[in-house]
Amino acid sequence: MNDISPRRPEVPIVSVVAPCYNEREVLPEFHFRASAAARSACGEDYEIVLVDDGSHDGTWEVIAKLAGADPHIVGVRLMRNHGHQAAATAGLELCRGHRVLLIDADLQDPPEMLLPMMAAMDRGADVVYGQRTRREAETWFKRVTATMFYRLLAHLATVPIPRDTGDFRLMSRRMVDALAAMPERQRFIRGMVSWTGGTQVALPYERQARVAGSSKYPFYKMLRFAVDAITSFSAIPLRLASYLGLVGVAVGFCLLVMTVWIWAAGGTVTGWSSLMTVIVWFSSVQLIVLGVMGEYVGRLFQEAKGRPLFLIDTVLAGRQRHALPMEFATLAPELRREVWDTLRHPAGVSRIANRTTP
Ligand code: UDP
Ligand code: MG
Repeated sequence: MNDISPRRPEVPIVSVVAPCYNEREVLPEFHFRASAAARSACGEDYEIVLVDDGSHDGTWEVIAKLAGADPHIVGVRLMRNHGHQAAATAGLELCRGHRVLLIDADLQDPPEMLLPMMAAMDRGADVVYGQRTRREAETWFKRVTATMFYRLLAHLATVPIPRDTGDFRLMSRRMVDALAAMPERQRFIRGMVSWTGGTQVALPYERQARVAGSSKYPFYKMLRFAVDAITSFSAIPLRLASYLGLVGVAVGFCLLVMTVWIWAAGGTVTGWSSLMTVIVWFSSVQLIVLGVMGEYVGRLFQEAKGRPLFLIDTVLAGRQRHALPMEFATLAPELRREVWDTLRHPAGVSRIANRTTP
């Protein structure tokens, strides 16, 4: 099913795509293990796309060194730090493989899973995603917040997004092309993949500890990521105002009945405190609802600006160094693919010489 479209002879069977942000220490071991896994899955017909997401610890120098020694490596350097999802998107757009493994560079997700994932795809899956059975290697706080987040998302999202999954997954070429065709800037890749549908299969695995370095997702980034995920896949928070408004009307009605009741009995309702409580409570609710609407309006603003998701500084393919045109990220997906193909196979240059950007 996933292999409906035949593989073009010049493309590798598998691309391994890994976003890297300050991962200097892990990269040599990642290269070793990912290469071994790819080789056992498809011989020499693979590429490893390492996207340097604006690192400042010498990650790019390590990538350049690896690329100099290994023609399977494609090094992509972004102009600055654009974030994990944008870096992964850049890798997905530049990889050419018939099947694509998206994986973190820190070896928390074992590259050796490629082999069983390939087997599941041979049986007809479009996407084979890793599902975490245990996350013992992670902090208590991260595990609890992650569990809460996935449960909440499952209730809110319009498409079922599998619990306890990250972006670690093998995707067929048509899935990767479908992702590239989605123009949104606010990207929650695992949700977007779920949205595409097709046959998606889970493979359980144990998430390991990082081989070296520390997590690049501090609490505020995790929170932003969670809000991005929810606002991309659910409009339910926007209905918060209506729901809370209805609750407010019910509470107000009860208070009215109580006031009339006490007045009829010859008394008056006293209490500065109760009045203040109601005022503070309802003004806070209004501010929260305004804030929720602001989150959506802010994202509309980002989308409306239409800036590219990332800008690429340099691409290294083995020993070759390419400078992609600055407007690369704003081109239509099929044109992006053509530009990149042409750079790697210069014989086709004339095909795109007279094309203009849309
Ligand atoms: N990463 C990235 N850009 C960022 C943050 C992270 O490319 O701004 C990469 C990072 O190098 C790693 C992957 O995304 O390969 C996942 O990040 P990390 O391991 O820090 O997240 P965690 O596993 O702790 O959630
Ligand atoms: Mg990690």
